[in-house]
Amino acid sequence: MRLPFWKPRPVNGLVTTADNTTIATTTSKVEQHLKLEEGAVHIGINSSDPDAFVLDLSIQNIHNEEQRDDGVQLSASNTQPSTPSTWFNWLGNQHSSPTAVFHPSTLEELQSIVLQARQCQKRIRCVAGAFSMSSISKTDDYLVDTKFLSSIYKPAFDQERNLWTVPVQSGVSIKALDDYLRNHDPPLAIPSNVFLESALYGGIVAIGAHGAEINGRCLSDQLTEITIVDGTGTLQTFNADKDPIEFSAACVNLGLLGIIYTLTLKVVPMASFRYRAFDYDVPYNELFDPLRKECGHRLKSLTQENACVELFYFPFNHTGNCRCNDHVRVKTLNPTQQLPTTNSWFRELHHWMANQAHILRLFKIAVVNLLPYWPSWTPFITRLMYRFTPMLDCVQEIPDALHFLKNAQIFPTWLVEFSIKCDDDDDYANVVRAWDHVTQMVYEAANERNEYPLSVALEGRFSKASRCIMSPMYDEDPEAVFFSIELVSGKNTQGFFEFSEKIAKIWMEQYGGLPHWGKVWEDYEGAMTHVRSQMRSRLDTFDQVRRRYDPKEVFLMPMYERLLQETEK
Ligand SMILES: Cc1cc2nc3c(=O)[nH]c(=O)nc-3n(C[C@H](O)[C@H](O)[C@H](O)COP(=O)(O)OP(=O)(O)OC[C@H]3O[C@@H](n4cnc5c(N)ncnc54)[C@H](O)[C@@H]3O)c2cc1C
Repeated sequence: MRLPFWKPRPVNGLVTTADNTTIATTTSKVEQHLKLEEGAVHIGINSSDPDAFVLDLSIQNIHNEEQRDDGVQLSASNTQPSTPSTWFNWLGNQHSSPTAVFHPSTLEELQSIVLQARQCQKRIRCVAGAFSMSSISKTDDYLVDTKFLSSIYKPAFDQERNLWTVPVQSGVSIKALDDYLRNHDPPLAIPSNVFLESALYGGIVAIGAHGAEINGRCLSDQLTEITIVDGTGTLQTFNADKDPIEFSAACVNLGLLGIIYTLTLKVVPMASFRYRAFDYDVPYNELFDPLRKECGHRLKSLTQENACVELFYFPFNHTGNCRCNDHVRVKTLNPTQQLPTTNSWFRELHHWMANQAHILRLFKIAVVNLLPYWPSWTPFITRLMYRFTPMLDCVQEIPDALHFLKNAQIFPTWLVEFSIKCDDDDDYANVVRAWDHVTQMVYEAANERNEYPLSVALEGRFSKASRCIMSPMYDEDPEAVFFSIELVSGKNTQGFFEFSEKIAKIWMEQYGGLPHWGKVWEDYEGAMTHVRSQMRSRLDTFDQVRRRYDPKEVFLMPMYERLLQETEK
């Protein structure tokens, strides 16, 4: 079959529609549709609306008439599900067999799917980029793939508030929006973002994802408005003026209020806000010796003096068989009006090497395919990773500085992250201890049992508190700072679950840490009870909002049910 318009291409000379990953996925969806309706496919770029670019993938001849509760007839193409098959997330650790998978691209289609689910007494889960490792997207009922909700609308400038905003549909990828904003006149940027470029906005907002910018808080804190097709099929608009509590619940909603349709995000002018990226190497004991009070003080100063602080520790990065010989990489970002650096060939070369997919693929093969059989080679590999991590001092445009390791998604890793509130009165001593527990256990496992459960890195980022009640970084004090500490190990790493469970227990019990909803946490012993007891009152508030917008529990999911039940015992 000839597909004359099937080629992602710039619209109005501005943007490409998605990154390579999305295009590949889209193509496979096309194949699924082709199986459904041979000879009735129209695929192309719809540029009839000058304020939006839309990937229009509609199947002619597939048409549903739904009778709404209020008697309105809904016309719904794309509400016919594609052939059900087993669904897997990115890491492959979660899978399910949905009764039906939908690929909507319009509001009417979203509403129709909700009404259909209600009629058939099915539950709905959405999936965006499928990068989450918890069971948060799993369903055996209806799965809604949001990738075709991919319109970006025209950015607007509010003179009174001196604020740029951009509305997007929930299936827009981080890269697509970055590219669009970069080419806007004037060029704009999202000032804080997650590391990953191929996640979709609906997915990162729903779970409260965050970057490393201290004032960036979590992505959901950058929203000025969010619209959701709720459990009754009605489009609801949430913003702070209308109802701040409902808005706070809607901004990190775990997909429990309905299907996110659009999000309006704050953006900044690129020209006046680039980042100076500066990476350096610090001996371990200067930052993380729990016996030295000045370590915590140093960390605190770092957060006060920089816009962004990110810490990387690759185990065994120096010889000597002790963490005290190792070094920690510190990455800082600070706004500058200087032009992006172009003149250092060495910097370019180093950066090029770090970003190249083939280097990451080599590490992936080493960590994911070889280390499970020869774990005692871990120190050699982690030391190489440490050496290959570039040390930069340069000025970059915001998206380049935020997504400094392109293609991260080709390296399948387990991620376990907990957010710990920094103890301001004790000069962040709790951060030092939370970090040191991990490195101590890494060396104990290696020296005493010849085990290497941390096969990539320990990572840490600081952010101010979120105002969203379901964020693990929520606090009533907006100036409170949280440390998000993360274990990164290759898929297949021996003993990772047991090791990470022990660490998670320490982070929860000793430091009150709360897990990242999209990473690994729910099967750790005591985690559900801990989360419920830590979040008790805000979980109750959130649940009231959830019941209001989803009275028939169309969007309820097992992970959330477990969270409520387990603690009622
Ligand atoms: C390599 C890698 C790097 C990462 N880096 C970071 C990082 O820097 N910071 C960070 O905080 N996290 C990070 N994460 C975690 C990641 O950001 C989250 O898991 C995020 O949810 C992934 O987005 P997604 O598009 O894949 O969403 P999915 O995993 O597909 O969905 C996440 C949740 O959102 C819901 N959802 C999605 N779209 C909608 C919608 N339209 N309406 C309602 N609900 C919806 C889904 O039902 C699900 O519950 C990383 C993960 C990986 C694998």
